[in-house]
Amino acid sequence: MAKKTILVCDWCPSGNEHAVATLALTNGRVTKDTPTLDLCKPHVKKLHRLFKARKSREPKSGERKKWPDAEKRVFAALTNEPTAPIVISRKLKMSQFITAKVLRNLLADKKIKKTGNRRSLRYSR
Ligand SMILES: [Zn+2]
Repeated sequence: MAKKTILVCDWCPSGNEHAVATLALTNGRVTKDTPTLDLCKPHVKKLHRLFKARKSREPKSGERKKWPDAEKRVFAALTNEPTAPIVISRKLKMSQFITAKVLRNLLADKKIKKTGNRRSLRYSR
């Protein structure tokens, strides 16, 4: 008796769409453990779209940054007294991430001084 095997799409919920390709996720080496997907045409297309390189988006004109004056504000919040970044971010109601980024930029420009490390990290003018 003749035997026929058909490949169906792994992503289609109905499970009876014919697969047109078997795609593998590899780092260049294919082993028996290499994950593969049998996909129908629309799903192959969908997966290819995910691999497309995307350019970072330029801000549209008139679109303002969240903290356009962040550097000015952080600098103004600093004194000669060494202060922890968290204290500055709380004082300015600015995220710790943005505060840390601005502080690093100010430090790189040699506008402020840094003392300590990690938990004892403090910034001053
Ligand atoms: Zn499919």
